[in-house]
Amino acid sequence: METEPHPVFSARALTKTYGDGPTAVHALRGVDLDIVQGEFVVLLGASGSGKSTLLNILGGLDTATSGSATWTHQGQTHQLTGASDAELTRYRREHVGFVFQFYNLIPSLTARENVALVTDMADDPMRPQDALALVGLGERLDHFVAQLSGGEQQRVAIARAIAKRPAVLLCDEPTGALDCATGIMVLQAIERVNRELGTTTVVITHNAPIAAMADRVLRLADGRIVEERRNPHKAEAASLSW
Ligand code: ADP
Ligand code: MG
Repeated sequence: METEPHPVFSARALTKTYGDGPTAVHALRGVDLDIVQGEFVVLLGASGSGKSTLLNILGGLDTATSGSATWTHQGQTHQLTGASDAELTRYRREHVGFVFQFYNLIPSLTARENVALVTDMADDPMRPQDALALVGLGERLDHFVAQLSGGEQQRVAIARAIAKRPAVLLCDEPTGALDCATGIMVLQAIERVNRELGTTTVVITHNAPIAAMADRVLRLADGRIVEERRNPHKAEAASLSW
């Protein structure tokens, strides 16, 4: 019998160096990490500390220079380090939901149509209207992107990311372009996905108060994890301010 949640991600001695010689940039200098099924992890750290590089390697958007990173799904462990481009593309398409600071929605389409672009290609997707309802946009299905606020557009992007029922949701500064009140609505959508769908979730932010909503907080500095803490009680997104 399983006694504790299994790791979804494991990284060991993970490094990433961009370029070589005297101008090489050591973005990750040896990261060890386990993230378990259903966990909500917040990654903090100054600009340039390696947060996006780490998230991109876990999401199959970038590849490591050395060390290992694995992803475990339905009892099977897959190497991310050393996977081919085709394998990483398939992994991203089937199993990873990404949310970035900028929403990258298609302006000539409605909210529903933006989500349907993804669900049309997925195996067992949610209905676009159900994904949009989950992020609080059940009343905005047929609005065009330009008719939505920044926070609403980001919630469409979250609906798009989760509608294919990904195993993991990776968010890189999802509130970076938003004010606090609007950002909270975006965080509530992410919180709900994590809680109701059980999606393993990693959120990068430079707003330290957001860390209160995580199960676990990791801080990066200069390509290393320099601090790790667990929140005994998770704060509701609605209670945050920054
Ligand atoms: P963060 O997300 O914490 O701001 P990043 O992971 O984006 O940090 O970047 C870490 C370091 O790697 C920075 O010094 C950055 O300039 C460098 N870096 C990131 N991506 C590239 C790239 N494609 N080419 C060269 N250097 C990069
Ligand atoms: Mg970044």
